[in-house]
Amino acid sequence: MSETDVLVLGSGLAGMMTALHAAEFADVTVIAKGPASETNTSYAQGGIAAVFDRRDSFAAHERDTLACGAGMSDPRVVRAIVREAPAAVAELESLGVEFSRASSRYELGREGGHSARRIVHSSDFTGRAIQAALLQRVREHPRIRLVEDVLDARVLAHALQQGTRRIRPMSARVTVLATGGCGKVYLYTSNPDTATGDGIAMAYRAGAAVTQLEFVQFHPTVLFHPQAKSFLLSEALRGEGARLRTLDGTRFMPAVHPRAELAPRDVVALAIDRELKRRGEPHVWLDISHRPAAWIRGRFPNIAEELARWGFDLTREPIPVVPAAHYMCGGVKATLSGRTSIPGLLALGETACTGLHGANRLASNSLLEALVGARHAPREIRPRLSDPAPTPKPQAWSARGTHPPLESVVFDHNWDSVRRVMWDLVGIVRTDQRLAVASRRLALLCEEIEHEYVTLRLSPDLIELRNIALVGSLIVECARRRRESRGLHFNLDHPRPIAAWARRLTVLRRPRPGGRRTRAGRPPGAGAGVSTLRRQPV
Ligand SMILES: Cc1cc2nc3c(=O)[nH]c(=O)nc-3n(C[C@H](O)[C@H](O)[C@H](O)COP(=O)(O)OP(=O)(O)OC[C@H]3O[C@@H](n4cnc5c(N)ncnc54)[C@H](O)[C@@H]3O)c2cc1C
Repeated sequence: MSETDVLVLGSGLAGMMTALHAAEFADVTVIAKGPASETNTSYAQGGIAAVFDRRDSFAAHERDTLACGAGMSDPRVVRAIVREAPAAVAELESLGVEFSRASSRYELGREGGHSARRIVHSSDFTGRAIQAALLQRVREHPRIRLVEDVLDARVLAHALQQGTRRIRPMSARVTVLATGGCGKVYLYTSNPDTATGDGIAMAYRAGAAVTQLEFVQFHPTVLFHPQAKSFLLSEALRGEGARLRTLDGTRFMPAVHPRAELAPRDVVALAIDRELKRRGEPHVWLDISHRPAAWIRGRFPNIAEELARWGFDLTREPIPVVPAAHYMCGGVKATLSGRTSIPGLLALGETACTGLHGANRLASNSLLEALVGARHAPREIRPRLSDPAPTPKPQAWSARGTHPPLESVVFDHNWDSVRRVMWDLVGIVRTDQRLAVASRRLALLCEEIEHEYVTLRLSPDLIELRNIALVGSLIVECARRRRESRGLHFNLDHPRPIAAWARRLTVLRRPRPGGRRTRAGRPPGAGAGVSTLRRQPV
């Protein structure tokens, strides 16, 4: 058994910043289920939204965030995060992140839904720059232990060593879920392989409330190429004038929204989806070739280079793109400082739902949320360390009665089945019938996977499969409850927003053992103990 004061699951921006703050007064262990640099954070291109321009204002950033959130963002959380953004960016810079500058000022980018230039960035590889600088700080910190290639399988806390397949019990006074998003629940996604929603699944199983999971953001422009794995073409391209066209060259966004290509993401993704379905075409074009070639290469060096690897020249031709699952606006219900409904368990970053994004995330607000949340986390962590109660001990883990899987093809099949059900039936456009079918299919898959979980020897594949199946079921359950269309949740059977629903959060909580029975066709426990709760104080 290994013991620590604070156990942080995740080495992305949320996990590393929390670790650095907590290490000022505690011993911290950070675990990452793959190499520490393989995170959603590393893939961020655009940047961090923060008010620095004299013509911009906090009020405008707040207004844009609230408008994008379609009536479901918590104004107090929005206000707190927006106002702290400049100080948080300055802190990152003091830790060694170099942001692009034009003379002495930040070179501010523009993205969809923003009424001003306010995206602080490091060229077009902001996430990589943040990840590298913070990882160095974490590695050299005397009170932080970084453990890579260890997958946490259960909160409070059993970790599976990927190489040796050994299960190690871990115990901590405070556990922080900073496990990122769940893009891999869908067949097509911009997220790396680590994004399997483990934190949401673990928290739910442990009895924490999860919320707003129906609001899955699909990024409008991911490279369409059979071999390229989910390469994103940043919104900053559209911010700098890139246009969307159908295959015959028609520009379609001006007829859809007054901001055309710079409309909020849900509007752009829905418009592309509509064009693809209406025309039966496999992709649309994204075209910035009207801007000078040298300027494009200077502003988007990473994107231009990656596209060249796939045979495309960003400076001379349009690029084929499609929407793909990108960001989870919902998550483990938490306050800005990460407090969840379970004492001693915090959730931060993309795993958490703090109320900032509401029904839709404004571009470049997510790194910001992870950053500011981590700055507030010590408020929750510190008092728990002086609590005289003994450190909770994990139950003994026994592999008795389990056997190795006969063949892994069954996992692969179920893995594909879950992701295809989600893509086909729970995508950008939903209907009551599609959601009902998805619910039934996922219930069967969950049942089969639970059986495998108790009878087979644990492997990373099995743990992740179990998690994507559960998170998929929870997304479907939230989507079935929201009987309206709002933000990222669009249901053809309820095509308009309903005012009363703007005040309702979909909250799911697993019933305690011995509690009410669950209904058939529901994910384990998702039907019971569900309530529509008022928001907690920040
Ligand atoms: C292609 C792309 C571009 C983006 N661009 C932007 C942008 O420009 N601006 C912006 O604001 N946002 C952007 N986002 C979103 C943003 O990057 C993420 O929301 C943010 O980085 C999440 O940070 P995090 O710390 O919460 O999680 P992550 O950075 O994803 O880190 C998750 C960590 O958890 C670990 N982990 C997961 N499960 C387990 C487990 N069971 N046990 C142990 N460890 C585990 C992983 O190994 C990883 O270390 C982008 C996302 C993508 C995918």
